[in-house]
Amino acid sequence: MSFIKRILVTGGAGFLGSHLCERLLERGHDLICLDNFFTSQKSNVAHLLDRPNFELIRHDVTLPILLEVDEIYNLACPAAPGHYQYNPIKTMKTSVIGAINVLGMAKRCRAKVLQASTSEVYGDPDVHPQVESYRGVVNPIGPRACYDEGKRAAETLFMDYHRSHGINIRIVRIFNTYGPRMHPFDGRVISNFIRQALEGEDITLFGDGAQTRSFCYRDELVEGMIRMMNGTDDFVGPVNLGNPEEFTIRQLAQLVIELTGSTSKLVKRPLPEDDPTQRRPDITLARKHLGWQPAVPLREGLAKTIAWFRAVSIADYRPPTPNY
Ligand code: NAD
Ligand code: UDP
Repeated sequence: MSFIKRILVTGGAGFLGSHLCERLLERGHDLICLDNFFTSQKSNVAHLLDRPNFELIRHDVTLPILLEVDEIYNLACPAAPGHYQYNPIKTMKTSVIGAINVLGMAKRCRAKVLQASTSEVYGDPDVHPQVESYRGVVNPIGPRACYDEGKRAAETLFMDYHRSHGINIRIVRIFNTYGPRMHPFDGRVISNFIRQALEGEDITLFGDGAQTRSFCYRDELVEGMIRMMNGTDDFVGPVNLGNPEEFTIRQLAQLVIELTGSTSKLVKRPLPEDDPTQRRPDITLARKHLGWQPAVPLREGLAKTIAWFRAVSIADYRPPTPNY
């Protein structure tokens, strides 16, 4: 038997959060979307506003709030390097104080709470592909640390609330995800390359483009998150969610040029400090416990994402920070 649940999605107006809200609303749940719109905008959820089971709250997750809910998906956090490095102290506060606030709410409401963690907890990994038992190589004082260490501290808080207070938690470690509704000015590699290719600008390859990433299509990632939330209570994670197909950044650039039919040229730019050289998830645990594995090839997901970028007016988007 399935029940209507009261669900809170923090960061619910963002790229992943807004799609998650759509999927949960389709299932008939009562949804509260909470966001401070730092890296998103109301237009991402405007089409949901007249639904009777949808509520939007402008709020900062670092501040306490009293809500009555059964489940919480905690996604509030800037995710793109240019965004999280813009105000690194605020990024750390969002991860840590935000986690404390949602865990406190889960404790008071006896709610289940899922943390959107990240492959960045592995840092610049020397184990490849990355398994969940791997503890990572993170520079605690570098420019990415506000995000990486913030997310690691949030995982610690989730596990300690689970062990100390019996809070029903889930932790997913999300690897690079892309798709429609990415912020065109988030500075992430896929949004940059598509925007540059469509506008005929140079495509900015950081370093020599030999570094690798594994890209998961948005819809499949969100399906994995929902499965994890609804999975058995004895599997709290962390679990890797991502597409194990690995590409160099140069290969990605060439694919974007091919699919857009662009005449843009590749230009080299300096590699950012602490940029991970390789990244690919081992998804054995997700396959075993969630029956989840991605099936959308990069070429197909990119074609859908490019179609979305062509359909929207880039001028309607405000760069959240100057770092893109
Ligand atoms: P996003 O920037 O589009 O979404 C984050 C949302 O959180 C935005 O709507 C933003 O306005 C909101 N937010 C930021 N700080 C807040 C605060 N203090 N209070 C309230 N709201 C706040 O990014 P996304 O890609 O949708 O990422 C969502 C989550 O998934 C993040 O927690 C991110 O760390 C995690 N994640 C994403 C990826 C990815 O590739 N997309 C990879 C790893 C982890
Ligand atoms: N990257 C790039 N050109 C860009 C943006 C990013 O070559 O215009 C590279 C970046 O150096 C990194 C990879 O693409 O190696 C993925 O970067 P992104 O910011 O999307 O995500 P993350 O580094 O967090 O995985």
